[in-house]
Amino acid sequence: MAKAFIPHFHNDSGVPQVVIGVTEFMCIGANAPFDHPHIYLDMGDDGEKVCPYCSTLYKFDENLSPTQTKPEGHLVDGDLTEAGIGAGAAPIEAVAVTS
Ligand SMILES: [Zn+2]
Repeated sequence: MAKAFIPHFHNDSGVPQVVIGVTEFMCIGANAPFDHPHIYLDMGDDGEKVCPYCSTLYKFDENLSPTQTKPEGHLVDGDLTEAGIGAGAAPIEAVAVTS
């Protein structure tokens, strides 16, 4: 399967720009539950793109890997598994059933 890996990025810390290692990506704005609609963005040949939802300026740097960001920490947690979105949410704990 040659499915392209599309990393998801957030801008929880609200920096004006995030440098990433891919030109096609998803922006979710912030980690859930404060995320905006998950939008697919393609820089094309421009090498940069402003997210229309959160106005974050994304810039491409070929020296970064697809999961690296500058500043660090803007890749959505758990994205490598592609189970991805929502992985940062608290796990649902088993409720003890007494009967
Ligand atoms: Zn955004």
